[in-house]
Amino acid sequence: MADPSSPLMALREGRWFKLICGASFQHLPAIRSLALAYGLAGAHCIDVAADPAVVAAVRSAWAIAPTLGFTPPDWTPPWLMVSLNDGEDPHFRKAFFDPATCPPDCQRPCEQVCPTQAIAAWPNSEGITPGILEPLCYGCGRCLPVCPHGRIIAHYRGLSPVRVGPLLLEMAPDALEIHTQIGRDRAFERLWRVIAPDLLGQIKLVAVSCPGGPGHGDYLKTLYDIMAPDLAIADCTLLWQTDGRPMSGDIGGGTTHAAIALAQETLALNLPGFVQLAGGTNDHTWPRLQALGLLDAIAGVAYGGYGRSQLQPIFDELDAIAHDRGQALNLEDIPPLLHRAVDRARAIVGLHHPAPATPMPP
Ligand code: SF4
Ligand code: SF4
Repeated sequence: MADPSSPLMALREGRWFKLICGASFQHLPAIRSLALAYGLAGAHCIDVAADPAVVAAVRSAWAIAPTLGFTPPDWTPPWLMVSLNDGEDPHFRKAFFDPATCPPDCQRPCEQVCPTQAIAAWPNSEGITPGILEPLCYGCGRCLPVCPHGRIIAHYRGLSPVRVGPLLLEMAPDALEIHTQIGRDRAFERLWRVIAPDLLGQIKLVAVSCPGGPGHGDYLKTLYDIMAPDLAIADCTLLWQTDGRPMSGDIGGGTTHAAIALAQETLALNLPGFVQLAGGTNDHTWPRLQALGLLDAIAGVAYGGYGRSQLQPIFDELDAIAHDRGQALNLEDIPPLLHRAVDRARAIVGLHHPAPATPMPP
């Protein structure tokens, strides 16, 4: 009998849950804690930056996970997905400013809007003003328009095609996500030709993440035609990620509507492959899908900012304890915090899983 906790089965049954850590989020302690909590909570996939250090942090969490008493003996970790881009994309950017140029009387609205406390625009106790704490910035862009002095700019990043192949071999992910935008079929095809021949044999799933807009349907059909021959040879699953309102799920309930509308549009295309929502998803997503009668049609939901923000207060407590003790701590070093984090993650995974995947340890 097929394993009901397997990611492929979850896709087929419409139960798929993916946690998005962020294509440019590189704060290793937070990523490790997220991977541990959501992995133990029954997530089917964790989506991270294509960065070997990030991948190593996730794998170190999953190496310790079976020893913590949460999992059955045959527990297998979620699929590890890494994200790539075929051109300029907000998911692959970092904010930047030079704090030395900031007026001393600025009220620092940039600090207030940043969801990850990535901005430190004032001198710390050592007299240093870091500006942007780069690993914490995931490119959400909220700081860019609020600076009254126009000091903040975005640096866009991407891997050159020659680096993609070796990096993927080094990281050996289970799944790949390609972020693209309407009209970039030639760039998409260039990237696809680099990864397809060598790597599809190892990759269980390829996700294509594309925001909506005029020509969206025709664009996805073009991408499918590019990928289809290689996907068939490699027996690789295809997933369309409907990136409704990118990186906004923690802002409020209304952000989910764009992802749902894009999912409806994508489903209407009847393309081969699963359809999964992302971009603005949160606790309003599943009830809304249910009300619209879409639960049988979609494969699942991915949560990014919402999923991360729900565990952040627990991670802040961990940081405070580590600070008091003067030592680095992992989430599993403080069992009550680990239990709370897994419990909270289970409630989020359980937004569309009525029953928890595994019992909590005593
Ligand atoms: S607000 Fe967003 S883009 Fe700006 S520093 Fe914070 S995470 Fe980065
Ligand atoms: S809002 Fe602009 S000027 Fe003010 S501290 Fe932030 S980056 Fe500097």
